[in-house]
Amino acid sequence: AHQAALAARSKDDLRSPICCILGHVDTGKTKLLDKIRQTNVQEGEAGGITQQIGATYFPVEAIKAKTAVVNKNNEFEFKVPGLLVIDTPGHESFSNLRSRGSSLCNIAILVVDIMHGLEPQTLESMRLLRDRKTPFIVALNKIDRLYGWKKVDNNGFQDSLALQSKAVQNEFKNRLEATKLAFSEQGFNSELFYQNKSMAKFVSLVPTSAHTGEGIPDMLKLILQLTQERMVGSLMYLSEVQATVLEVKAIEGFGMTIDVILSNGILREGDRIVLCGTEGAIVTNIRALLTPAPLRELRLKSAYVHNKEVKAALGVKISAPGLEGAIAGSRLMVVGPDDDEEDICDEVESDLANLLSRVETSGRGVSVQASTLGSLEALLDFLKDCKIPVANVGIGPVYKRDVMQCGVMLEKAPDYAVMLCFDVKVDKEAMAYAEDQGIKIFQADIIYHLFDNFTKHMDEMLEKKKEESKMLAVFPCVLKPVAVFNKTGPIVIGVDVTEGQLKINTPIAAVKTNPVTNTKEIIGLGRVTSIERDHKQIPVCKKGQPSVAIKIEMGGHQPIYGRHLEEADLLYSQISRASIDTLKEFYRKDVTNDEWQLIIKLKPLFDI
Ligand code: GDP
Repeated sequence: AHQAALAARSKDDLRSPICCILGHVDTGKTKLLDKIRQTNVQEGEAGGITQQIGATYFPVEAIKAKTAVVNKNNEFEFKVPGLLVIDTPGHESFSNLRSRGSSLCNIAILVVDIMHGLEPQTLESMRLLRDRKTPFIVALNKIDRLYGWKKVDNNGFQDSLALQSKAVQNEFKNRLEATKLAFSEQGFNSELFYQNKSMAKFVSLVPTSAHTGEGIPDMLKLILQLTQERMVGSLMYLSEVQATVLEVKAIEGFGMTIDVILSNGILREGDRIVLCGTEGAIVTNIRALLTPAPLRELRLKSAYVHNKEVKAALGVKISAPGLEGAIAGSRLMVVGPDDDEEDICDEVESDLANLLSRVETSGRGVSVQASTLGSLEALLDFLKDCKIPVANVGIGPVYKRDVMQCGVMLEKAPDYAVMLCFDVKVDKEAMAYAEDQGIKIFQADIIYHLFDNFTKHMDEMLEKKKEESKMLAVFPCVLKPVAVFNKTGPIVIGVDVTEGQLKINTPIAAVKTNPVTNTKEIIGLGRVTSIERDHKQIPVCKKGQPSVAIKIEMGGHQPIYGRHLEEADLLYSQISRASIDTLKEFYRKDVTNDEWQLIIKLKPLFDI
């Protein structure tokens, strides 16, 4: 029963590094994990690979066996006791393995499909790795799909490549170069692993196949090599507990439980622990420390083994009272005999409080909701980079009250009446309320997709405003009438455009001086509803183009040529403060310099 507890114990008090697998969907993360987990029949369970909670533990003996083909004379010396690989690949696990802004994931494998190159989640993973300063290697997976590839199961990559035809070798080279270029465009220098002279300066690319197992020995050796070169110092075993909650799950017979990765220290049954919950800190006592029962013991009643204590690094399920509302990504701390419980509560709560307080002081911005502390942090970091302001932040499923809070934006800044929901469920009632109120809810499990949705939404809002403002957008022009075909209702006249451009829908006015009162009079004629030349409708007539016949219509009493107007009166587009603002906001690039000048000239005419 103590196997799991002892599994990660180190010889020289170095603890096992924790490794995450990241990458785009379908690149083969799960398959790679399965492949490295496969225990050779001869090794049996004595190979020591142990299934833990949320992670698999590989003792150094198992890794030695798996890398033997590429470590012929044992020239590579293994110094760590083993490797703890997180079982759920992807960035949720990675971003939840956090403690005070730094990562508990010591090392990562970024999986790239050699046939596809860098994809959206690859870039997202790279951003996370860079932000958290986590060393990583790249598995260029699916090499068996290179056309004509001849496989040798579980072979070292260099040996396998040497056996391939020239054509395959060339295709490999081309794809490798393309990948290196793509990495450099993202600011990472990369090298094929056996040509890499400095793991500190270059990311190592290791070609693999999760199907044939080729390159996997190289990948395992490389991940330990990188660990030993880059971080042995930080892998010293510490007695202080360092742990993080990866998942919160209800389990039959145990109630609510938390799956925890313990990266340092010891946890014991009965320990008083503190972690972050949606309603503040949760303080409770460990009722049971559970690890999976080995296969041969599965006939026993429980799928779990109870442990009196467990030592880092490992994954363990904790059963304890009061775990409802626990948040994944939370730190887990142990209250020692000399500790002040309240201080620890404050500290744990501050993780959530810090994130919740990352809102615009102006109060104008989108609402953000995420499932875990890790994903919330990643999302907020990303939105900050994109300069998208955030006004509300929440964790867990979206309920009506969250949508209502977002709805405040409908009045303040309607564009931001948007909820960006990352990997969370939206309650039915909340959804209905949002639809009713015109609040947009975007859901995604890739951060980039939320960004794309939001950008598209902003473009649509702009388009809509532009549409709505069409009647308000008045392009400036001056018209000289050359004939009157119909005096009124509707007015039909022939005109030359002497300045600017005349567009359909433009409101037209004459400006005259009343001879009796000697005051200026603005006579509105209505809007242009038709522009015709040679019996053809045209949408616009520009300065200097041949004369056009125009129809001007107006609801109500239209002025009459011969009574209120003379043919000799110049006509103008009737501009206003609002029309100028509309042009500035939506049509700036459609208005020429000359036209801005004309607007300035027309302003005093209309008393602007
Ligand atoms: P994940 O989404 O990254 O976990 O990807 P999976 O491990 O589920 O793999 C996605 C698909 O790619 C599955 O159909 C796998 O069988 C396939 N696949 C994964 N690795 C390889 C590989 O090395 N070679 C080939 N040919 N297919 C692979």
